[in-house]
Amino acid sequence: MDRNVNYTNICESQCRFCAFYRTKDADDAYMLGEEAIFAKIAELVQQGGTQLLMQGGLHPDLGIEFFEKLFAGIKSRFPQVQNHSLSPAEVTHIASLSGLTIRQTLERLHRAGLDSIPGGGAEILVDSVRQQISPKKIGWQQWAAVMREAALLGMPTTATMMFGSCEQAEDIVEHLFRVRELQASGGTFTAFIPWTYQRETRNWVERQQPVWSI
Ligand code: SF4
Repeated sequence: MDRNVNYTNICESQCRFCAFYRTKDADDAYMLGEEAIFAKIAELVQQGGTQLLMQGGLHPDLGIEFFEKLFAGIKSRFPQVQNHSLSPAEVTHIASLSGLTIRQTLERLHRAGLDSIPGGGAEILVDSVRQQISPKKIGWQQWAAVMREAALLGMPTTATMMFGSCEQAEDIVEHLFRVRELQASGGTFTAFIPWTYQRETRNWVERQQPVWSI
């Protein structure tokens, strides 16, 4: 059993399909403090859970020191919990904010207590699709680069797919080929998690200016 904890909904990426993100000045923007996160993990452990899946937005102010301190605090309090956190987009964002390479970022996060990398943000691993639904987010090759580096460090990873927005059937096939090729070339995917785009919760940008037919 695992628990999803979303440490912040503040995100610079502002993907067009996303109903979760808020701008920093929004009334309902939030960021959880360490104690609130620890309390959620304690509840997970009390219920017999073994894995934490922590993801958030691409916060403009959270560099690597924030996550090193947080992950070290989690590992010291809950050493039995698998810390499965930070999608490739978050890892890339932290690297960019901190002036580090992806390798350096993953090494430091791993050392601090990050065990494995969730494959969130893959959506469809075809850039023409990504340009429509999440134009500010990393491209598919950057997503793959983070997963390759994680695998080289011996960290388990997962792969996801969000389908049902504007992609064509061939884009889904390309996505599957790319995941398979990554795995065949030394990848460490332990799961493949596809889910459907939820039209009813699409964000306000898309509701007002649909980029694909609804
Ligand atoms: S990066 Fe994630 S949290 Fe941010 S807008 Fe895109 S889907 Fe939402």
